[in-house]
Amino acid sequence: MIKAILFDMDGVLYDSMRSHVQAWQETMSAVGVESSLEDFYLFEGRTGHSTIDILFQRAFGKDATLEEKKNIYARKAQRFVELEQAESTPMPGSLEVLKKTKALGLQRIIVTGSGQHFLFEKLHKDFPGYFDKSKIVTAYDVNNGKPHPEPYLKGLEKGNLFPNEAIVIENAPLGIKAARTAGIFTVAVNTGPLLDAVLWDAGANVLFPSMPVLAENIEKLINQP
Ligand code: CA
Repeated sequence: MIKAILFDMDGVLYDSMRSHVQAWQETMSAVGVESSLEDFYLFEGRTGHSTIDILFQRAFGKDATLEEKKNIYARKAQRFVELEQAESTPMPGSLEVLKKTKALGLQRIIVTGSGQHFLFEKLHKDFPGYFDKSKIVTAYDVNNGKPHPEPYLKGLEKGNLFPNEAIVIENAPLGIKAARTAGIFTVAVNTGPLLDAVLWDAGANVLFPSMPVLAENIEKLINQP
């Protein structure tokens, strides 16, 4: 019996991937590392430090130093905040999904690779009454980011759940891998530019093209896994 939904945040609850991608590209370009837009949709879910190391390996054949990683990630996070303050946009349909989830009596847990400060305050402002401060897993709670299963295992722990009592909602291939490795039924919502096949290949159990379409189908999904 399903008791909870574990929500990824960027690209699921927030239409924020464009700002992440722009912040990453600007910040990396400033340290001489070129990257494509698609890179960041494929890396999505990784910790910032792991993303920086992959790009450094590609550009320079070595990891960044810890100090470089801290500086670059701080600049990227700062730029993201600037871009999002201009327009922090909930994903169309996300409130509908949350309403239905609540009406179905399901717990709502956030599992994000993001390391933003004041995350709960932002969630509370945009989705008042839907989330509990103690039921959020961020970059600060884990040693290993997605695609490692640790973030989702931590989410299960925070909700006191077995893997078969939860469903994950994810938009990113590495997030889907993390959730499936944690043994959880995973709903992919393809809100970005990647092909559906990339999300299926990552292990999605079911796929919807958008949050409004997921909202239309969520009762059916919960009552039949
Ligand atoms: Ca995401």
